[in-house]
Amino acid sequence: MALEIEVDPARCNGSAACVRLAPGVFHIDRGMAMVIDEDAAPEAAVLVAANECPTAAITLTRDGVPIT
Ligand code: SF4
Repeated sequence: MALEIEVDPARCNGSAACVRLAPGVFHIDRGMAMVIDEDAAPEAAVLVAANECPTAAITLTRDGVPIT
């Protein structure tokens, strides 16, 4: 099953690292990241984006189980 990706708006600082690391998945809108297409980048790239997020704002779950 595909990953479910969430960005915590209370944590996101708009650094756009996720946009660079997982192109097409995230978009910056008014200084905050949002998920626009969960399938736009390989899962490995999404995992890197979540791990590299400077504020740990990205949460990944699979079948309702957090994996980050
Ligand atoms: S890398 Fe993290 S803090 Fe930076 S824009 Fe993406 S979700 Fe927000």
